[in-house]
Amino acid sequence: MNRILVTGGAGFLGSHLCERLLEDGKNFVICVDNLYTGSMNNILYLNKNPNFEFIRHDVTQPLYVEVDQIYNLACPASPAHYQKNPIKTAKTSVLGAIHMLGLAKRVGARILQASTSEVYGDPSVHPQPESYHGNVNTTGIRSCYDEGKRMAETLFFDYHRQNAVDIRVIRIFNTYGPRMDPADGRVVSNFIVQALKNNDITIYGSGEQTRSFCYVDDLIDGMIRMMECKGITGPVNLGNPAEFTMMELAEMIIRMTKSSSRIVHMPLPDDDPVKRKPVIDLAQKDLGWMPSVTLEQGLRETIRYFRSIERLGKTCER
Ligand code: NAD
Ligand code: UDP
Repeated sequence: MNRILVTGGAGFLGSHLCERLLEDGKNFVICVDNLYTGSMNNILYLNKNPNFEFIRHDVTQPLYVEVDQIYNLACPASPAHYQKNPIKTAKTSVLGAIHMLGLAKRVGARILQASTSEVYGDPSVHPQPESYHGNVNTTGIRSCYDEGKRMAETLFFDYHRQNAVDIRVIRIFNTYGPRMDPADGRVVSNFIVQALKNNDITIYGSGEQTRSFCYVDDLIDGMIRMMECKGITGPVNLGNPAEFTMMELAEMIIRMTKSSSRIVHMPLPDDDPVKRKPVIDLAQKDLGWMPSVTLEQGLRETIRYFRSIERLGKTCER
């Protein structure tokens, strides 16, 4: 059996990753999570699988397990959540990377870092290739996440150069899909929950800012391809290059849910990137990867999921 550690495994992406790795039948998966934004509900059905083990643990503390591969996903990803306790967010990225890299070095495991398009900050180059070094504010409300993830990338490459740790770094662009927490605060979950309840759709700022949305199944496929690919460290962008304004997203969700919601505008949070779109030539060339799910197809699945949740609760706003 291939022993695989997934940190942040009870979160949105982590739970999909654990599920896909277990479907393979050749993997034993250890899921580590402190349940800050993740939930046992996301992995309840996996707990019945004899090849799955959950450990409640905070990656800001060292961890000793014997594994062959590590996927390091532990970190809140929604701005509302990572800004709630920014010092903890920075510790999770930086200490979490140090502890997981130390573990990888000790046991000789290959390790993949879930980095982010946020390392490009509010980009002055559009679309963003991996060679772009970014435009990040060091002192703003997003900095705990952006700079934490940038430092984590630096640590990955230093452990690789200094200690020959076998690293993989992916930069994930906005990803959505079933199992997002309705109160997560990210734009896709907020808009769908608001639309299904016929509540006001909260657009921050004019709604002209853009994002490029990748469906979760595509993303997990790219992540596993990156881990399995030999002779490559990255960083490699993973995202869907189709670019939409937040106004277009809101209108699409209202139409697809047949909602009577109105669009309302709220203040744009500080440092909110104006545009974002990945260049994915490297992923195409080195991993043979291309996203295949359109925004409309992915939203259909995500709306179906949110409809199936009994209590939608309240959205989380910044
Ligand atoms: P998520 O918030 O659903 O999952 C993060 C998980 O990490 C949660 O289960 C949370 O409880 C856990 N966690 C947080 N701090 C921890 C700590 N100190 N110790 C142990 N566990 C901890 O978010 P997600 O969307 O699944 O994101 C997963 C990873 O992918 C994150 O590292 C995020 O930065 C990265 N990423 C995600 C996106 C996206 O659009 N979903 C985009 C870019 C990068
Ligand atoms: N956004 C919005 N309304 C919401 C939540 C988010 O208009 O209820 C906007 C947000 O200001 C940003 C974009 O949607 O411009 C994407 O936000 P999200 O928090 O999903 O991720 P980000 O890419 O900003 O990290």
